[in-house]
Amino acid sequence: MTDTPLLICGAAFTEDERARLSTAVSSVSVDAPRAIAGLAPGAAARLRAVAYKGHEPFGAAEMDGLQGLGLIANFGVGYDAIDVAAATQRGIRVTNTPDVLNDDVADLAVGLILAQARSLVRGDGWVRSGRWTKYGAMPLARKVSGARAGIVGLGRIGREIADRLAAFKMEIHYHSRQEKETPGWQYHADPVGLARAVDFLVVALVGGPETRNYVSAEAIAALGPTGVLINISRGTTVDEGALIAALEEHRIAGAGLDVYLDEPAIDPRFQGLENVVLQPHVGSATTETRRAMAELQLANIRAFLDGQPLPTPVN
Ligand code: NAP
Repeated sequence: MTDTPLLICGAAFTEDERARLSTAVSSVSVDAPRAIAGLAPGAAARLRAVAYKGHEPFGAAEMDGLQGLGLIANFGVGYDAIDVAAATQRGIRVTNTPDVLNDDVADLAVGLILAQARSLVRGDGWVRSGRWTKYGAMPLARKVSGARAGIVGLGRIGREIADRLAAFKMEIHYHSRQEKETPGWQYHADPVGLARAVDFLVVALVGGPETRNYVSAEAIAALGPTGVLINISRGTTVDEGALIAALEEHRIAGAGLDVYLDEPAIDPRFQGLENVVLQPHVGSATTETRRAMAELQLANIRAFLDGQPLPTPVN
């Protein structure tokens, strides 16, 4: 093992997360992948692993700036910021932190459905602002239990969402590239057909170029004026321009969003819409889950440096 084998890369690491990594493994830090080019050549050449947290691209140029690099350990299950094909070509392993965050992201998806349909944010404002005493009861909201839910992408998180919504007595529909073993949930080979069949469409796909605009303008239109779109995946998976237009023109009933094309400087038109509930990309953002993710990231780094099998490899 070299003296300082680890590069902690990303301004998004909390002090605790950073301390956990640097206590375990001798390390240097940069705020973002683009800062790798500024490392002293001698120090850069000794680095063998990167602990990454962030959404800025980590591509071939950054990898080539670290000649001794053998591992990029991502903090998060979604590794769309990392050019995995370029890493594989260079013999660099990539790891992520799957499963430990499924519950949190699924909980948030359910929360967004309830917040959107039951006007929870509006209700809070109704009480705080005194409109309750001034105007009386708030306008009626919409029933969630028993409605039809459609999951786009029945992966680890998508399945947890479906299980939760089934407990709400919802009729479960889903789209994946292939039909899966389910407790009788209805499969749709095409996301547009799925959108047409449901009241709430929940997007749980991976991000990246292959799923860009997977939920297309046509799928958004197919949801119709009573349909609600929930996105906890990545901003890229939904045609954001088409979504904003449909919301502005009330061609769909509303949306609940945790992810956007540009984060944190989201399209300002979202902030002017009353039919959306917005969250600042907090799907996995609980103390418990972030600790579990940090532990899994570190377990991958330790395994790599010790020459052991990687717990959660991507490539
Ligand atoms: P997963 O188990 O790999 O499931 C991903 C789903 O994406 C699967 O249903 C898969 O389809 C689908 N998919 C993958 N490649 C595709 C392609 N080329 N075309 C069409 N569908 C494709 O991943 P997961 O652990 O559930 O995580 C899903 C995503 O959630 C992550 O990648 C991340 O972007 C996002 N996420 C967001 C937050 C947040 O804070 N909001 C937190 C964690 C994760 P098949 O079923 O057909 O295989």
